[in-house]
Amino acid sequence: MSVSWNPWHGCRKLSEGCRHCYVYRQDAQHDKDSREVRRTTAFNLPVRRTRDGRYKVPPGEMVYTCFTSDFLVEEADAWRAEAWEMIRIRSDLRFFFITKRIDRLMQVLPPDWGGGYENLAVGCTVENQAMADYRLPLLLDAPLRHKLVICAPLLGPLDIARYLVPGIEEVSVGGESGNEARPRHPLRFPPNRCTACQRRAPLPHPPPVPAFAGPQGRDRLQGKAMR
Ligand code: SF4
Repeated sequence: MSVSWNPWHGCRKLSEGCRHCYVYRQDAQHDKDSREVRRTTAFNLPVRRTRDGRYKVPPGEMVYTCFTSDFLVEEADAWRAEAWEMIRIRSDLRFFFITKRIDRLMQVLPPDWGGGYENLAVGCTVENQAMADYRLPLLLDAPLRHKLVICAPLLGPLDIARYLVPGIEEVSVGGESGNEARPRHPLRFPPNRCTACQRRAPLPHPPPVPAFAGPQGRDRLQGKAMR
């Protein structure tokens, strides 16, 4: 089972992968300005309790976190300490967020972070080779217990084999959604060079996927994150 937790909503576009951001597209339908980052009424969802004292989100749930923003966006700095605290308190849940701002992680971690919270997985999004070469070394160095690579929207040829070292638990590939979706490019995994792949059954290279795939059409290439 899973739940969505969006402690804040809205985001600032950062790189080419943001051009057709689905948050902006959906907000536009309701005349909302996605550039305004605001704390939501669901902010404390993980620690809300029922009348009989139990948590409303039952133990064991996967909590998809901040999917209408970026958990590490600057505009949410004032609220993030509380969010970290809720993630820490709810060690009986599994949290997962995706970010394009992995370069901000080290400056916004809580004091008790240590090697990272066991119940949190972080996906680093890359949309082209330049972003992969910038963000993935930071992901590899990050003190996180669970690391994923999200190649979406995949806008150009991409070879990330050298970043797929042990510790990267999963790679997913996706295209853009919406009427203006740009073509998705292949992801190259040179056979037998991907350390992570070698630990599992060989995979097609590149994977047999449709030319366009939205966020719902991601393809998992390897590994299992927190399952
Ligand atoms: S970082 Fe994500 S949520 Fe923020 S604008 Fe870019 S695509 Fe949208």
